[in-house]
Amino acid sequence: MKTPVIIYILECRHVIPGRIGVMELHCFNCQDEVKKVVDVHTFEWRVFCLSCNYKPWCGLSQMLANQNASMHSRKHSRHEVKVLYMENPIGVRVQKHILE
Ligand SMILES: [Zn+2]
Ligand SMILES: [Zn+2]
Repeated sequence: MKTPVIIYILECRHVIPGRIGVMELHCFNCQDEVKKVVDVHTFEWRVFCLSCNYKPWCGLSQMLANQNASMHSRKHSRHEVKVLYMENPIGVRVQKHILE
């Protein structure tokens, strides 16, 4: 299984994806400086197939979600595939921990 990635909000107010449990990240919007994690961006785009287990999180990219969704429906023409913007429960859990 691939390591889950969530979207962090840094002290510079930029958002950067990172592994669970990191406290600092390199911000590519700030010349790669190391910035403190201050919050989590819990809402992400997600492809949601009602017909199988295909439910990948796609971060902040609606375009990536749409692409994955149309690829999946092309492969499985009978599957009912949706693209949702929803709260990632992993992100919510990490956010609670950070804001404590
Ligand atoms: Zn930044
Ligand atoms: Zn499916």
